[in-house]
Amino acid sequence: MSVSLRALVTGGGGFIGSHLCRRLLADGCTVTCIDNFASGLRRNIAGLLDDPSFRLIEQDVSAEPLPDDLQADRYYHLASPASPNPHTPRSYMALPLETALVNSVGLRNVLELARRRGGRVLFASTSEVYGDPHEHPQREEYWGNVSSTGPRSCYDEAKRFGEALCMIFVRSYDVDVRLIRIFNTYGPNMDPEDGRMLPNFITQALSNQALTIYGDGQFTRSLCYVQDLVEGVLAVMESSRSDAAGRVYNLGNPEEHTILEYAKLVLELIPANRSRITHMPPVPDDPSRRRPDITRAKSELGWEPRVALRKGIETTINYFREVTAVS
Ligand code: UDP
Repeated sequence: MSVSLRALVTGGGGFIGSHLCRRLLADGCTVTCIDNFASGLRRNIAGLLDDPSFRLIEQDVSAEPLPDDLQADRYYHLASPASPNPHTPRSYMALPLETALVNSVGLRNVLELARRRGGRVLFASTSEVYGDPHEHPQREEYWGNVSSTGPRSCYDEAKRFGEALCMIFVRSYDVDVRLIRIFNTYGPNMDPEDGRMLPNFITQALSNQALTIYGDGQFTRSLCYVQDLVEGVLAVMESSRSDAAGRVYNLGNPEEHTILEYAKLVLELIPANRSRITHMPPVPDDPSRRRPDITRAKSELGWEPRVALRKGIETTINYFREVTAVS
């Protein structure tokens, strides 16, 4: 990648965004991060604030059009709550209107800036556009099984609308927009309190509480380590394929396990814990299984995940030990 690229990352204070900012800086980019910390965490980027190539703008990207002086060569639109857990304050179910707006109005603000001033855009969509899938594993061509009025609709329908908006800017205004569908991702900088599966299991095991499995634990997910994911994000953004604008890529790890298997692995990797597993009522609208088909990213971009699950979870446990100060 050229050393002089200017990157703008919305949601740069978030879990994936903060790793992306760090990676772009290491590549020699200048990075502007826009975040209102609705779901991002200041500590994720605290170590970047002294870097002269890094700038933080504390702002809601949905609030108003972005000024021309934020012009960049690369726009990464990652801003959005992403945890489904309704019982946690920074989840998309707790911030439904903000979630709907950041993936529509906020995205439009980014797209309009690119349309006026040039530059490539990448929109972070989600595996949730496949809903509770009837096709398994999920290929990019699959149209999904989503409820437009269900409890997840503020997120999955907003992301679907966001994808449609991107295609309008590709087809009608010739903006170079790339789309990724991010599957479950984990690693350091996840919010231990965001209510998702691994943050819950790890913080529960570290504090000797029972690991809460919603339902019987036979649902599945496929988890990708965040460093792998970030490499995929860059591969999509920097692809030189002639059909890259408007092309969608699944990014995730195809290794699929049941929720029960993840719980058991966490218990095994935190040896001193006295935690057990407890079963809670199932979550309404919870997709029963999810696994990406990454054939397209693999064959067209040469990208695939490399970090082994056990290693990735160990690193994540160490991070959670630090930030939650329990051992
Ligand atoms: N889950 C669970 N216990 C928890 C948190 C999540 O059993 O404490 C389950 C959840 O019902 C879902 C899976 O783990 O089946 C993944 O949930 P997560 O919130 O991580 O993300 P999702 O994949 O649903 O977006």
